[in-house]
Amino acid sequence: MAAQLGGDLQLGAHVTAIHRRANSLYEVHSSKGVVVAKHVIVAGLTPSLITAIDFQPPLDGAMDQLLERMPVGTTMKYSMVYEKPWWRERGYLGKMIFLNTSVPSNYVHNCFDNSPYSWSRGVLTCFTEGAQNRAFLRLTDSEQKAVMQNILAEALGPTEEKMVEVLSKNWADDEYARGGYNIFFPPGVLSSFWPAAQRIYEQRQLGPPGLWISGGDYSLPSLGYMNGAIQTGEETAMKIIRELSPKVIV
Ligand SMILES: Cc1cc2nc3c(=O)[nH]c(=O)nc-3n(C[C@H](O)[C@H](O)[C@H](O)COP(=O)(O)OP(=O)(O)OC[C@H]3O[C@@H](n4cnc5c(N)ncnc54)[C@H](O)[C@@H]3O)c2cc1C
Repeated sequence: MAAQLGGDLQLGAHVTAIHRRANSLYEVHSSKGVVVAKHVIVAGLTPSLITAIDFQPPLDGAMDQLLERMPVGTTMKYSMVYEKPWWRERGYLGKMIFLNTSVPSNYVHNCFDNSPYSWSRGVLTCFTEGAQNRAFLRLTDSEQKAVMQNILAEALGPTEEKMVEVLSKNWADDEYARGGYNIFFPPGVLSSFWPAAQRIYEQRQLGPPGLWISGGDYSLPSLGYMNGAIQTGEETAMKIIRELSPKVIV
């Protein structure tokens, strides 16, 4: 897909401002320069990243306040790499869901086998979420590792297998994500801001004509999932195609 787009695709371009000119065209300012366009889709950005963009004219009050009330959850991916997937030899799939609230499992919601298909390494990936995540982050690296080893021992039994590497990513620390897995609506937000939500979720409009929104967080049937990102992207593209070529049947 990137090859088809050729030079029109600019990767690593941090968008900082979207300004609507008097002639209704948009200037999109990024770290790679300025692009002028009739239609702009703000695609995939979580709400706090959208409101960090300098919009001129500014987003209307209801839209801005709705976005300010759509937080993203907190999650960390903690992957433990072993020489081999030793749990398989014990007949375990490596998928674990922790329902008890006692230490050590109260730090982790679930884990699964994330080994490469070749099984050249064994990788178990665990997720710490919400309050568990914030408590886990207060531990030192060695304390975190010990917690995880205890959790695995609790679920799979003790092992002498050496953990050769730990790879972890806390999504709230990623300046281009600011959390995960997706947004959620605290109580009262949808009922208080329903017209603005309809503009996002039904009409795909973020601001004045030509300023669109899509992304996994803005899908009605698949909020928070990759198929939601694709569905909203296609839906928004179709709306633009219809506006550009009203006679085209798509
Ligand atoms: C830990 C984790 C596990 C997940 N597991 C699953 C799963 O198993 N199945 C599933 O379907 N979904 C899963 N999801 C959700 C899935 O990743 C998202 O729904 C999907 O990536 C949304 O796609 P998107 O294109 O809307 O946004 P993104 O994939 O977030 O893409 C947005 C892009 O915009 C870029 N960006 C941000 N700000 C700017 C800016 N100012 N200028 C320019 N670019 C910017 C970002 O760098 C990013 O590349 C998971 C998410 C997380 C965090």
